[in-house]
Amino acid sequence: MNLLKSKNTTLPKDIENTIIKILESSGNSGMNLSELQKILKIKEDKLKLVVARLSRKGIVKKEKIKKEDGKIDYKIQLSTIKPVELKIELSTVIKIPCFTCKYIKECGIGREWSPANCEILKNWLESETNKIEQASK
Ligand code: SF4
Repeated sequence: MNLLKSKNTTLPKDIENTIIKILESSGNSGMNLSELQKILKIKEDKLKLVVARLSRKGIVKKEKIKKEDGKIDYKIQLSTIKPVELKIELSTVIKIPCFTCKYIKECGIGREWSPANCEILKNWLESETNKIEQASK
């Protein structure tokens, strides 16, 4: 069965969703990349790119394995850590301290005033993170 045969299911997002559904149906044990490739009938390079994207998003985890024939494969499993969906509201964005900072014109990476080591920005981010954590409890 070629799950990606239809033109409507060849978009990367569709491939991602199809992979997620397959992994959900495979249970906790996951599936080898080579098995996934046989089911999806797409090129290995393309599949690796999609799996890498899912891994970066925290949706799947992959583990390098050595098959009996000595070849390298990857065990792909759904991550047990659910990705966090952040809702960003304009009211929060306009509170970013940089918008009202008197150092904004001098601020930049490698400069005296920099977001990389700014206590004002760090404190604001920690405060916002704490609010999100409190709201999710
Ligand atoms: S990173 Fe800090 S210093 Fe730079 S503009 Fe934002 S608040 Fe100001």
